[in-house]
Amino acid sequence: MNKLISLGLLFIPALFSVSFVFAEEYYYIPDHLLEQPPLFCAMEFEDTQMPEAQRDLMKMAENAVFDWETKLVEATKNPEGWDFEFVKLSVQKQQEFFFDRDCTVNIYFERHPPKGEWEYSGYADSYLTFSDIVIFYLEPSYQYSGKTIEVEGEIWEEAEIVGFKNQLAQDIQSTLRHEIGHSLGLDHPKFELNDFTKDQFGNGVHSPSIMIDPYEYNIPGEIHYKITDYDVNSVVNLYGEDGINEIHLSAYFLDFIIIGVVLIVMIYFVNRKFRKKDSGLTPLED
Ligand SMILES: [Zn+2]
Repeated sequence: MNKLISLGLLFIPALFSVSFVFAEEYYYIPDHLLEQPPLFCAMEFEDTQMPEAQRDLMKMAENAVFDWETKLVEATKNPEGWDFEFVKLSVQKQQEFFFDRDCTVNIYFERHPPKGEWEYSGYADSYLTFSDIVIFYLEPSYQYSGKTIEVEGEIWEEAEIVGFKNQLAQDIQSTLRHEIGHSLGLDHPKFELNDFTKDQFGNGVHSPSIMIDPYEYNIPGEIHYKITDYDVNSVVNLYGEDGINEIHLSAYFLDFIIIGVVLIVMIYFVNRKFRKKDSGLTPLED
């Protein structure tokens, strides 16, 4: 009997470690979770030097939103669960008070980041249930810096951004998908160098996730990005197979409830302590 119990006890940790080894590790933005099906609002803009830019970028933003939606629906076979909406907001509409009251994710386009921060192609500010995405759309022009780095025995010369060309950046499609991933709640995942698979034509490597921060990896040459199974599974793991089709309580809301309960308990005990002291006092005369 004792042997059986100890065998059973051994079996339980073994089960846990097996599931731990096979479980994928996902990375999420703290305190950010969509509470309802997202409405993506792309902000129109004027660029007199590139009159075509707005139309092209609006189309790319729409494609990126529906690329995420399509892949989530395919993975879960649940079209109702991932009901993403996309609208374009005119410049005039953006100036109206509370224009974005219904938008979950605002997508802005700017020519390039401020000088000194040129290495960014976009960013997302995601907090609570809303996000602002900014995409920088001009293609950078590079100059070799003279500094070299050695990666797996190969010497590469580092290039730095010295300005911008009047043409759309090549990485806009992947930048859009990356920032939309942030707006869905995903943070930068951690991978090993051997998780990047070599391109079959020897032309760069494929990233295991659209969400990686390329500055964390010393990979020379081109990195190809697309929304991978890992990315789709991360979102499904966050919201469940049912998707974002119902009101989710955000992490922030749960924090609120916990703080509220702690406060009520504290007030209760403080109240009791003071009552005990009061009971020994004689009431003041009027
Ligand atoms: Zn990022």
